[in-house]
Amino acid sequence: MKTELLEVQLYDTYRRAIHKFIPLSKESVSLYACGPTVYDYAHLGNLRSYLFVDVLRRVLEINGYQLNHVMNITDVGHLTSDADSGEDKMEKGARKQGKSAWEIAKFFERAFFDDLDHLSIKRPTTICRATEHIAEQIEYVEILQQRGYTYQTSDGIYFDTAKLPSYGKLAKLDIDGLQAGARVDIGEKKRVTDFALWKFSGDGQRQMQWTSPWGEGFPGWHIECSAMSEKYLGNKFDIHVGGEDHIPVHHSNEIAQCEGRHDHQPANFWMHGYFLQLAKEKLSKSGKSLLLAELIDKGYDPLAFRYLVLTSHYRSHLQFSIKALDSAATALKRLTKMLSQWPDGGELSVEFQQQFMRYTNSDLKMPQALAVLWAVTKSELSDADKKATILYFDQVLALSLDRQQDLETVPQAVLDLAEQRQQARTAKHWQQSDELRAQILSLGFTVEDGSQGFTLTKI
Ligand code: AMP
Ligand code: ZN
Repeated sequence: MKTELLEVQLYDTYRRAIHKFIPLSKESVSLYACGPTVYDYAHLGNLRSYLFVDVLRRVLEINGYQLNHVMNITDVGHLTSDADSGEDKMEKGARKQGKSAWEIAKFFERAFFDDLDHLSIKRPTTICRATEHIAEQIEYVEILQQRGYTYQTSDGIYFDTAKLPSYGKLAKLDIDGLQAGARVDIGEKKRVTDFALWKFSGDGQRQMQWTSPWGEGFPGWHIECSAMSEKYLGNKFDIHVGGEDHIPVHHSNEIAQCEGRHDHQPANFWMHGYFLQLAKEKLSKSGKSLLLAELIDKGYDPLAFRYLVLTSHYRSHLQFSIKALDSAATALKRLTKMLSQWPDGGELSVEFQQQFMRYTNSDLKMPQALAVLWAVTKSELSDADKKATILYFDQVLALSLDRQQDLETVPQAVLDLAEQRQQARTAKHWQQSDELRAQILSLGFTVEDGSQGFTLTKI
């Protein structure tokens, strides 16, 4: 269903403001998402980024747009340091695991898509691998070379960022400050922000290398996204997405490449998902990480993680904790249980639909959109209409709310007591509320209050 009433508003990192979304073409929305580097399993932080993209896509779809969603797979060229030093992550991963770089790329790409399936993340309409687009990348570098934006060092061809006065605009980089403060050895690079377009194989043993006008070598990480986004979406498209870490380096460099080739930047909107944090630390594939498979092994519904991610706005950091995941799991169980008990055949409430979409369309305010869902559960609508309305929302939330719930999980008696306690709290009958809490406890459950109602946890 297309609502004619509400426009979609999105935050653009480039302009640092929320703007009305107007697609370039009426046919479809062109969306490019930076994909995974497939040298290891994706961690929960990585998956939060793809959940953000999925929500964006579903919000656009529920507004009637068709999506041309392109995602790359980085299977070569991403070095252990974003500053073009260190080893290629693929080659390093291969050595660590005693397999070929090609084998681990295939293995971890499959594992990545399994994770996406578990989280009900729609697959991109086009998936493109860096190793399958070497010719396009070489051509891109050649054009940059012809236009005078490159120079050569003993280890590769570099982009000369000094040639581009607008370099770093996306991240508002203080280039002089960076240059002055560059403690790392920038080697033969002229400027700290210059970056590799093509690296020479040198004397080292590499499994992944190709012949180029500059000899044997491999592409730099940033050029793959410029070459492939242009191939599949053209040199100007609607939205480019990625994690917030891409703002100062990867996306700044993609913009530089496109400006070097076409004199304009490639996307109308740049959107960035903020990090999931674990005990205030950054999650990393090589360091401390948590995998979706580990949660599934512990008995968690993977969609509880999806629910947890929906409880925070994509432009704020989310602290991961098992306690927060437990609350999300309980909330999700309550919802699926309610829906499994309600009859089919109801009608969508247009009033609640509008409330919901006012939030989704306002830069993906999903926590508020979820609150509308809970308001529906407590509304005066008939159970059938509640169900129809919530299942409409589920096209965006994708929490599989229409499944049959294991009715044994939280006994009805406990749920009833919790509902009574909620009512007592609303009426500010605190003593009654405490007594009900004690009764719930005696039945083996703790109850906690949150912005979206209560959560019950088995003790
Ligand atoms: P990678 O596979 O390392 O290239 O990362 C894949 C995506 O995950 C990129 O868009 C990163 O920006 C994003 N990412 C990395 N760490 C996190 C995190 N802790 N939280 C959210 N997104 C992340
Ligand atoms: Zn990219």
